[in-house]
Amino acid sequence: MKKIKVIVFCILAILLVLVMAEKNRILSSDTAPKQMEEDTMTSKHDEVQIEGINNAENTTENKSAENTKEENEDVKPTEENQKEKTAEEKQDEQITKDKQEEKTIEDKQNEKTTENKQDEKVTEEKQEDKTTNDTKQEEKVTEDKAVEKPAETNKSNNATENKKNEKTVYLTFDDGPTASSLEILDILDKYKVKATFFMLEPEMKAFPDAVKRTVKDGHGVGLHGVTHDVSKFYQSPESALKEMQTAQETLLSITGVKTNLIRTPYGSIPYLTDSFRKVLRDNKFILWDWNVDSDDWSASNKNYVQDVIDQLKTLDPSKHAPIILMHDRSGTVAQLPELLNYLQKNNYQTEIIDNELESYSFECHDRCYPHNSSKAQ
Ligand SMILES: [Zn+2]
Repeated sequence: MKKIKVIVFCILAILLVLVMAEKNRILSSDTAPKQMEEDTMTSKHDEVQIEGINNAENTTENKSAENTKEENEDVKPTEENQKEKTAEEKQDEQITKDKQEEKTIEDKQNEKTTENKQDEKVTEEKQEDKTTNDTKQEEKVTEDKAVEKPAETNKSNNATENKKNEKTVYLTFDDGPTASSLEILDILDKYKVKATFFMLEPEMKAFPDAVKRTVKDGHGVGLHGVTHDVSKFYQSPESALKEMQTAQETLLSITGVKTNLIRTPYGSIPYLTDSFRKVLRDNKFILWDWNVDSDDWSASNKNYVQDVIDQLKTLDPSKHAPIILMHDRSGTVAQLPELLNYLQKNNYQTEIIDNELESYSFECHDRCYPHNSSKAQ
């Protein structure tokens, strides 16, 4: 019985072992299908790859075949194809040509544009330069003006101030030159004033140095004729003209100065009639008289300066500036400083008479008559 039990046990044990073994086998077969699956997938993948490659190869082959076909077609062109191709080529050529032309045009346009831009740039630069220069010049002018302006303003202020108070006066000396001329010139120089000398032709010849100094000192020079003789000077318009022309030539020869200024002997009233005036005027002579007579030559006039002052005070300031008649003589020299002192203290500014100054002379109206007429007797 015990043996039976042992046998049964053994059988059971064997069974158990078998069961275990079977179990292990089953467990092992669970893993195997996965591997199989994996293997299958791999192979499938490979198949797909192979298929893909085959397909690709086939496609390439097919395409190659097509190409070959096309190539064959190309290789064996029909006339139409040739024509088409020629047309195509022509079209292509035309397109190429057109494109080239377009490119050329474009290039030209670009060049032109570049040129224009360059021109514009140059123009701009020039304009800039010009503008800059103009601006600079303007600035400079402005600066210059700015620099000048204060001086001008001061000058103008001074001039305005002076003009307010200053009065012009013309000093004139007739009948010279004489031995007193240099003394008169010294006094004028000392007072820094200017005068105008109406000179006689023979006296100019007698005192040429005085004539030269008169011009050198910047005084005005005019002509007073030759004879200072009424009957000779006023004998005819031609005689008066001849005397003035002679004096003019002599002054020119001594000093190189040509003057057209004249003062006739004893003034233009009463003997310088209209016919005289016309002849002198036609020969470009400019007649000057006076509006203040110093009467400095008169022996009875002990103080001509006071007489001049009185006349200056009665002159109408709105009319011509004072033209004081004096004579180149020793008696005049003595009181001349007194007159010049008065003029300076009363803000008179001396000016010379020249060829450009508008003349002042007596007008005849009905006051002129010939020196040899019954009226003159
Ligand atoms: Zn005179």
